[in-house]
Amino acid sequence: MEKVIILRYSEIHLKGKNRCYFERVFTVNVEKSLKGIKHELRVISGRYLIENFDEDSIDEILSRLEKVFGIHSYSVAFKVPSDLDNIFEAAKTVCQPYGTFKVDTHRADKSFYLNSPQINTEIGGKLLELYNELTVEVHNPSQVINIDVRENGSTLVFGKFIKGAGGMPVGTSGKGLLLISGGIDSPVAGHMIARRGMTVDCIHFHSYPYTNMQARDKVEELAKILSGYTLGTHLNIISVTHIQEEIHKKCNGEFMVTLLRRFMMRLSERVAKKIGAQCLITGESLGQVASQTVEGMTSSNSVVECLPVLRPLCGFDKDEIIERSKKIGAYEISIQPYEDCCTVFLPKHPVIKPTLKSVLEEEAKLDVEGLLKEAMSTLETITL
Ligand code: ATP
Ligand code: MG
Repeated sequence: MEKVIILRYSEIHLKGKNRCYFERVFTVNVEKSLKGIKHELRVISGRYLIENFDEDSIDEILSRLEKVFGIHSYSVAFKVPSDLDNIFEAAKTVCQPYGTFKVDTHRADKSFYLNSPQINTEIGGKLLELYNELTVEVHNPSQVINIDVRENGSTLVFGKFIKGAGGMPVGTSGKGLLLISGGIDSPVAGHMIARRGMTVDCIHFHSYPYTNMQARDKVEELAKILSGYTLGTHLNIISVTHIQEEIHKKCNGEFMVTLLRRFMMRLSERVAKKIGAQCLITGESLGQVASQTVEGMTSSNSVVECLPVLRPLCGFDKDEIIERSKKIGAYEISIQPYEDCCTVFLPKHPVIKPTLKSVLEEEAKLDVEGLLKEAMSTLETITL
């Protein structure tokens, strides 16, 4: 009996006229995720089948599919010729020999000599005969044996529906630029937006030599984890060392984080324009730290000329973010204790609710454009 994997996609069926486009991107993404593994992907009336793989690669295939956005659910199935004996053989293997069950048949091949209720009765009856600790329960069975009689003379038999990553295929919702620090929040924010179908590239600001190279490696690792979900990403890296030195030298120290954030946003918008990103994404959560007040956000938003700033974590508590971080496999890296540039020259008492007027007064002490140009000249880009 041949093992195959059935894929079902999430919201694509809602997409009316664009459906073909979404399906195409979905197909490309599934293929990309399975790169290097022998398989064939077939699309038959809105149903995706992965076939002709070696059985020992099935765990690897399933673990890769876990990360593909747009997959609603998937099942490992047996593919057998459409005759009752073969279908029963497969059903026998799928079925746990105890507890409650029902057989649920879908018959696309209307020429098959039994209809769906008859197949249910035949296969169900044979299973009951074989396993005497099994009982039928139509409404709330502990297992369902699904039988899908296809038009091409083959039948799929399977048990479980495994929940997929959900969301939309990456690449169907434009492109965004994620401001990624070494912390817990920003990778989670990037993951959430990618799950809605957006291609996500990353930008990171460092203050080498005040921060060390391990801090940078850590960010690279986090971006790599994200790229497992986005099927590739680019990490843009910019030095803000001189900007921080200038702020430290010339401005009221309480404004360090607020002013630095504004530089980060400006630089991010410039990079976004360069790479064709249509929005910025941050890991801010309302009220989490002193700089993440609505006043802080007003101050950082006001320097972004035309792009929207997405803050998907705004309404989340820290423990909810940590839970997500663990789920996507980023947490253990995020908690490694290397310093982020925001902790360099950190004031004892940062301004919590900076008024825009006071921020502008402090910023006027700096050569903003000169510092931006200089920082842009440090830009390097890594493909992950
Ligand atoms: P995170 O866990 O993502 O570091 P945080 O709770 O530490 O977030 P902040 O340090 O206030 O919060 O940063 C808020 C957001 O600003 C981050 O989520 C990230 O999007 C962006 N950010 C902060 N520092 C950097 C950096 N060095 N490079 C790029 N983006 C940054
Ligand atoms: Mg941080």
